[in-house]
Amino acid sequence: GGFQSMGLSFPVFKGIMKKGYKVPTPIQRKTIPVILDGKDVVAMARTGSGKTAAFLIPLFERLKVHNAQSGARALILTPTRELALQTMKFTKELGKFSGFKTALILGGDKMEDQFEALHENPDIIIGTPGRLMHIVVEMNLKLQNVEYVVFDEADRLFEMGFAEHLQEIIRRLPDSRQTLLFSATLPKQLVEFARAGLTEPVLIRL
Ligand code: AMP
Repeated sequence: GGFQSMGLSFPVFKGIMKKGYKVPTPIQRKTIPVILDGKDVVAMARTGSGKTAAFLIPLFERLKVHNAQSGARALILTPTRELALQTMKFTKELGKFSGFKTALILGGDKMEDQFEALHENPDIIIGTPGRLMHIVVEMNLKLQNVEYVVFDEADRLFEMGFAEHLQEIIRRLPDSRQTLLFSATLPKQLVEFARAGLTEPVLIRL
């Protein structure tokens, strides 16, 4: 199975070609069809495996087109600023032909800039949990239309002490959402988090 057998829409496929990806990586081959099928997923994958495209490609398919009315429909949570910036870069490149708007919400950045980004009706929010929760409270940012959530490098999210923020964020999301958890390791705390926050997740390991 290559990318052409995944039933992807033309703008998404074009983004993949433009990025120069010829064949899916093993984690992409395993996760993309399951995510496209609408299932929650726990994927054991580390940096370098192609995990970012593994959750971005189905994200683009799910959101289809930019929608200025709906509020954010996808949320990507990362443990660090560096990872968030890199994921933003990927989102712009891979999603080049999809036309989505993306907002980056990071601790240390100016709040005004983030307010501005959020007022432009982003489809996708990428951020670190602490600042995101702050904005949710300060700006009354609504997460009730989020239908696709990614916890990227989830083990590190917990190591960085974001457990409480993650719980608070999850509480504000609709039950009908699709939830993806990508992690290099699966410590007990993370298994418990997945049990509570994901619905019958498919476990994918290489
Ligand atoms: P990641 O694990 O998401 O950090 O990706 C690691 C690197 O693999 C990045 O430079 C990606 O651009 C690249 N990559 C992801 N998917 C593919 C693919 N299917 N073919 C070739 N390179 C890829």
